[in-house]
Amino acid sequence: MQEKIAFFIAISKKWGINVSCNKSPPLRMPAINGRNKGIGFQLPRHRENSDRTVRFGGAETKGGHTMRVKEETEIVPISPDAPFYFHCGPEVPCFNACCGDLNQYLSPYDVLRLKKNLGVSSPVFLDTCTVRHEGPRSGLPVVSLRPKNTPEMACPFVTDQGCRVYADRPASCRMYPIMRMAARDRSTGTIREEYMLMREPHCHGFSSGRPITVNAWMADQGLIPYNAANDDFLRVLGVKRRDCPGILPQPLSDRIFTALYDSDRFAETIAGCRYDNDEAYLRDAYEYVIGCLQQHEK
Ligand code: SF4
Ligand code: SF4
Repeated sequence: MQEKIAFFIAISKKWGINVSCNKSPPLRMPAINGRNKGIGFQLPRHRENSDRTVRFGGAETKGGHTMRVKEETEIVPISPDAPFYFHCGPEVPCFNACCGDLNQYLSPYDVLRLKKNLGVSSPVFLDTCTVRHEGPRSGLPVVSLRPKNTPEMACPFVTDQGCRVYADRPASCRMYPIMRMAARDRSTGTIREEYMLMREPHCHGFSSGRPITVNAWMADQGLIPYNAANDDFLRVLGVKRRDCPGILPQPLSDRIFTALYDSDRFAETIAGCRYDNDEAYLRDAYEYVIGCLQQHEK
């Protein structure tokens, strides 16, 4: 049985839902210049331009999911082995345009990478760079990047030269213009993936570049560990949906927030140990959250 969705990692600038976007360029871009957008968690990344609803996914996702997009945006399914043409870098006329109007949600793995890149503790990162939200129907905590306090609502990490956290930019920043949808089979743990290619009118990245397949793009963008961590998080979502439906009580939501995003506090006050690597941390954090959800259900 599929967990019913999961995650949409991927895409875009200018809207939202389980998507995110990246604007990046990996194809031969100096590190500082890449950008990309963040991951999905079924939440939006940009705030504007919701002119129509796109429905995607099918039987495997129990009827699919919807996303609001700008009228002229083209979204087409693409196979992981199919090539597309794309290039982004300082030379494109729209450079940096997609790091504004920010509405970017972060996965737990995104947070680990970003706070390490910035050399700050998780409480400092969360306080200064993010905004906390709660899923309106689940109460599950999520965090988004706090935009600069300007009319452009730019990402706090964007500079004239590009992304200043490029090496650790969020998954959705890496993924654009591809959208990835993943669902987990509850009994086997198998992950089923689907991909979409998104063409937004403001993005000039399609007018040049060399062909690259979706699989090569993900490898080139360093998405392998992001996809693994985010796919593993589907276990948490599955337990939440199955064993603990409805809005979480605030104290439980707070504990889950600490485990998923406030890693230094979790390690110090709950796990009582230091973690050598992000993967080990997330394994324990997800198990802890699953335990909390199952105990709550009882
Ligand atoms: S080409 Fe322009 S709009 Fe497209 S991802 Fe790059 S900077 Fe963003
Ligand atoms: S500047 Fe912000 S939105 Fe742009 S690629 Fe970097 S993290 Fe992503």
